[in-house]
Amino acid sequence: MLDNELRDAVRSLCARYGEDYWQAHDRDRTYPEAFVRDLTQAGYLSCLIPEAYGGAGLGLREACAIMEEINRSGANSAACHAQMYTMGTVLRHGSEEQKRRWLPGIAAGELRLQAFAVTEADAGSDTTRIATFAERRGDRYVVTGRKIFISRVQHSDLMVLLARTTPLDRVEKRTGGLSVFVVDLREAGDALRVVPVETMINHETNELFFDGLEIPAENRIGEEGKGFSYILGGMNAERILLGSESVGDAHYFIDRAARYAGEREVFGRPIGQNQGIQFPLARAYIRTRAAAALRDEAVALYDAGAPCGAEANMCKLTASEAAWEAANAAMDTFGGYGLASEYGIERKFREARLYLVAPVSNNMVLAHVGQHVLGLPRSF
Ligand SMILES: Cc1cc2nc3c(=O)[nH]c(=O)nc-3n(C[C@H](O)[C@H](O)[C@H](O)COP(=O)(O)OP(=O)(O)OC[C@H]3O[C@@H](n4cnc5c(N)ncnc54)[C@H](O)[C@@H]3O)c2cc1C
Repeated sequence: MLDNELRDAVRSLCARYGEDYWQAHDRDRTYPEAFVRDLTQAGYLSCLIPEAYGGAGLGLREACAIMEEINRSGANSAACHAQMYTMGTVLRHGSEEQKRRWLPGIAAGELRLQAFAVTEADAGSDTTRIATFAERRGDRYVVTGRKIFISRVQHSDLMVLLARTTPLDRVEKRTGGLSVFVVDLREAGDALRVVPVETMINHETNELFFDGLEIPAENRIGEEGKGFSYILGGMNAERILLGSESVGDAHYFIDRAARYAGEREVFGRPIGQNQGIQFPLARAYIRTRAAAALRDEAVALYDAGAPCGAEANMCKLTASEAAWEAANAAMDTFGGYGLASEYGIERKFREARLYLVAPVSNNMVLAHVGQHVLGLPRSF
């Protein structure tokens, strides 16, 4: 499918879910099940799975186009985006047996792999300090610890988990001794307690308490102790994909605000004639195009299998800032109506704010570029 055809197809699916649909879920804090089911059945969420395992075998470029169009339509892809990048860990580092076990089910829409558990309260952005521990006992691992802000757990069958398998004080490098597992949430029972965390957006996110959760050793991805390097590749894909969602958000704000600015008349002329309204929208548009160009650069490197850590990070920062600039310009354009729920701007405004913080906060992006691109001393 050509890029434009793919974008058109995603747009027409999203058009079935208008502002009313998203507002109702936002108000009731409910999961947009019908939307996610439709996207899954259309094959969009498994587009990165190779054809040999039942997927469409597309590249990250197409996945980015899908996410951008979803957010540009006014939808909230945070309800389902994780399937795109969590699966990458299985794809790149899973054994043939593991791929055959999980990927066809995901591609067929029978299995959901929507949850990715890394963050812990006591570690924060310093991922190597996570303390959730998976202890090997015979043919199983027994997990104890807790995680915070783990999204979509209640709407997923499987979850990718990063846990320590060697204590921090016994590893040579801080990034060592971490391992990745696929947890079957349907079998977790009482050993995993899920406590929802309320946030300012409709985002099913949770605190997790592991109390002796048993995971079969055959669910460990790759080698024990090398999990950190495995999830880094996935994190680059995540940053590029979420950067694309921010590009979509930015366009959502600019599309709507430009239309409104042309229609709304105050003092006998369209408000868009005033430079105070027009210029912030033009500036946000330019920044959005720049973010999309950076995204395209990152995606080309990723799809070619080349290193893209810096580009993925820069894409995420630039796009999230462009979306936030566009969000504020739209708020100003809509005046009081920007704050009225009916117009949708305030909902998207809240949703767009998340991307400055997650999946990695922009300060961490600046630290990465300062250290790894500019060669400056490590700042933490
Ligand atoms: C709605 C939502 C959904 C999420 N979903 C998931 C999920 O599904 N899975 C998952 O694993 N995580 C998830 N997260 C967690 C998210 O990735 C983290 O919140 C994010 O990485 C920041 O970590 P933190 O909140 O612990 O902030 P902290 O690490 O406590 O940082 C707080 C602030 O201090 C700054 N800071 C800290 N250290 C430095 C430094 N050395 N230099 C400069 N600034 C610094 C940070 O940039 C940030 O601005 C989610 C978060 C939210 C809010």
